[in-house]
Amino acid sequence: MLEQTFILTPEQAQQMERTYRVVRRSVDARQRQLRVQLSLLCDPHGQLVPLDAPIPLYEKPVFKDVHADQKGEVVIVGAGPAGLFAALRLLQEGYKPILFERGKAVSERKVDIARLCRNEGLNPESNYCFGEGGAGTFSDGKLFSRSKKRGDMQRVMEWFHYFGASDTVLYETHAHIGSDRLPQIIRRIREAICERGGEVHFSTPMDLALWNEWKRAQRPVILAIGHSAHDTYRMLHAEQVTMSAKGTAMGVRVEHPQELIDRLMYHLQHASLQEVERVTQLVGHAAYSLVTQVKTADGAATRGVYSFCMCPGGHILPAGSQADGCVVNGMSNSLRNSPYANSGIVVALQPEDYAPFRKEGVLAGVAYQEALEHLAFQHGRMPSVAPAQRLTDFVDGRSSKTLPACSYLPGIVPSRLDEWLPVTIGKSLQQGFRDFGRKYVGYLTREAVIVGVESRSSSPVRIERDRETWQSLSHPWLYPVGEGAGYAGGITSSALDGIRAAEAIIQANR
Ligand SMILES: Cc1cc2nc3c(=O)[nH]c(=O)nc-3n(C[C@H](O)[C@H](O)[C@H](O)COP(=O)(O)OP(=O)(O)OC[C@H]3O[C@@H](n4cnc5c(N)ncnc54)[C@H](O)[C@@H]3O)c2cc1C
Repeated sequence: MLEQTFILTPEQAQQMERTYRVVRRSVDARQRQLRVQLSLLCDPHGQLVPLDAPIPLYEKPVFKDVHADQKGEVVIVGAGPAGLFAALRLLQEGYKPILFERGKAVSERKVDIARLCRNEGLNPESNYCFGEGGAGTFSDGKLFSRSKKRGDMQRVMEWFHYFGASDTVLYETHAHIGSDRLPQIIRRIREAICERGGEVHFSTPMDLALWNEWKRAQRPVILAIGHSAHDTYRMLHAEQVTMSAKGTAMGVRVEHPQELIDRLMYHLQHASLQEVERVTQLVGHAAYSLVTQVKTADGAATRGVYSFCMCPGGHILPAGSQADGCVVNGMSNSLRNSPYANSGIVVALQPEDYAPFRKEGVLAGVAYQEALEHLAFQHGRMPSVAPAQRLTDFVDGRSSKTLPACSYLPGIVPSRLDEWLPVTIGKSLQQGFRDFGRKYVGYLTREAVIVGVESRSSSPVRIERDRETWQSLSHPWLYPVGEGAGYAGGITSSALDGIRAAEAIIQANR
């Protein structure tokens, strides 16, 4: 099929979208005049294809029934995007996936998360990181990836759509599902796996007993544990699974009133509130992506400071998995309709930065992460109230006597993050925020608050695997995948990584 691309005003774009089949859509807010780039499907004669044309959106995936007939069993540890998409790919080829997940099914997990948000304590096995769908289930559900392989990414979008995501995931450049829609989609994926003969075992962590059983059997095991299972990392390290330390990024989450961000990003500083609302109804609330380089403490080099997982119209949430740590992250619902805009602002760290924890060897980054999370916990209030500071007070090195309203449900308490964050992170963030404030005048405001700490942007460890076979370098029956293995970051790339590991296993059995 062919396509034609148009650069349109938001009003024109809305009209076209209601009439014709869209292939790709992106909003360009770089110029004063907002523009929407729209690619529309056309037939071989160059005619635009109407929205209701009887042409399938894509070829529906077929997942085989493996109750009676199967090519073999594959164990998968972890039911996050990497594990679930690996299971689906295996089913397509007639393999039986057997998933082991330490957390609970979505419906039970919701109960634990509601308690956590009411500040009634964290269940270390059932929270925003652990349970059916992994960290992806109550995530923001932004489906972007830096992967250049459009075809592969499209397959992930099509499967999300097949299991219930809206049509927009098929064509939006910045596709978004939302935390309110993801749980049903994840549940449907699990139901599809089980209906066709796969197995999903909840509240069943891979422990030493299971590990030893699989080690004896030497049959393929896909390891899709995410980056929060520190106990599992330690177990794997003790079992001499080859790992290496890798860089990551840590910092804080910043929250502004969404209206302020809409005005800044859409060049509407002096517009009436009605005009801001009109524009956001057409193109959605504004997001941002900020990056700068700041000098290191000794002035000898530079270090990246950047925004991470920006959530327009969203909420900050407690995203830790250990009772003595305070970790924050962000999400938004499909309508992105909260009055707040939050984003992680993180500082790039390299393995050299973990030096104070070098006795932990390759797990030094994990120890650094835990120490930072514990520090935030000590400066917050038990069990999940998070330490916070007005953005301007943080940058100027002052205490905040009061805090602005914040979306973080367990609550925030004033704290001197400028004083207790490690210098590497604190000073870099101060410089970074100053740079962002120069670029977007109004971004540095008393109305913004920073909440600590955003420490789990990616894994500080890589579980090494062979580039060709995807097998662990030390344990050839093990296939480390997804974010926890250090090969992916985010839902789409983790799902893709899971698919590719499944394909490596299928290939090896041909
Ligand atoms: C609040 C929040 C918002 C986010 N928003 C976005 C977003 O908008 N877009 C985006 O792309 N990414 C987002 N992310 C990140 C995204 O969720 C992860 O990148 C993705 O889920 C990683 O997938 P994964 O399958 O590799 O690991 P995970 O999703 O972490 O899944 C790993 C699973 O393994 C299980 N597990 C761990 N150890 C064991 C064990 N020993 N035995 C059995 N099971 C085990 C865990 O319980 C978990 O369910 C967000 C994350 C959070 C927390």
